[in-house]
Amino acid sequence: MAPPGVDITVAHSARMYDWWLGGTDNFAVDRAVGAAFAEAIPDIRTMARENRRFLDRVVDHLVREAGVRQFLDIGSGIPTSPNLHEVAQRNVPDARVVYVDNDPIVLAHSRALIGDAGAGATEYIHADLRDPASILADPVLARTLDLDRPVALMLVAMLMLIADEDDPWGTSRELMDALPPGSYVVVTHPGQDFDPAAMAKVVEAAGRGGMTLVPRTRTEVERFFGDWELVEPGVVPVLAWRPDGPPPADPNAAYYWAGVARKPG
Ligand code: SAM
Repeated sequence: MAPPGVDITVAHSARMYDWWLGGTDNFAVDRAVGAAFAEAIPDIRTMARENRRFLDRVVDHLVREAGVRQFLDIGSGIPTSPNLHEVAQRNVPDARVVYVDNDPIVLAHSRALIGDAGAGATEYIHADLRDPASILADPVLARTLDLDRPVALMLVAMLMLIADEDDPWGTSRELMDALPPGSYVVVTHPGQDFDPAAMAKVVEAAGRGGMTLVPRTRTEVERFFGDWELVEPGVVPVLAWRPDGPPPADPNAAYYWAGVARKPG
């Protein structure tokens, strides 16, 4: 049974991603479009897992090495294991996390998630990145995060769902501008430049399933960081961003760009 407000006639990225990660919160339409993606890119499930592994690595890095205590995770998705707040709070129990997503199925799950996480430290806002003012004005944000202290803005595997005409650079910049110096922005994004022919098939399958999907080039992804200082090693394939084991045999095997930057000052 679909929770109220969940449209099961068109594919949704959160539910397709859940399916690739082995979850059960997906419907036939999500599996059909997800399978079409997998036909064009057979390793797509591994890529989704690598994106999650990056998320764990980067949160660990930000908490332990950069001293970040607050996270604003936009396009947080259906909960999976481990979730961002679990990674942050296992290092620093009082780390504060605000999740934001615009999908009603994520809203339904977040209630249970927040209930389990303990009041106050982890919260959820049902909102859309295309309306950054509504995120910034939400009282949940003000009562959970202190915007005078550094925040890590997480835009992980979600900007590709926003069309150029909705200006994902401008809307994410509005959030970045609201954060103090010493804050970080984290981006992963499917790359247009790894295998353009496979990406074209995926974009076509997404369109047939009623979904917007815009893979972008490395240069387009670098624009998201603006004048913030890129942390080493810069914008690189997700497998090459500070691997926690031996360097990957083929860093280009997962078609995602990844980068982290710090607000100067
Ligand atoms: N960030 C998670 C990760 O990397 O594991 C989940 C990524 S999932 C592929 C993309 C998420 O972005 C989905 O949950 C989707 O609902 C959300 N999303 C898409 N467009 C959005 C928008 N305009 N505003 C907020 N969330 C959005």
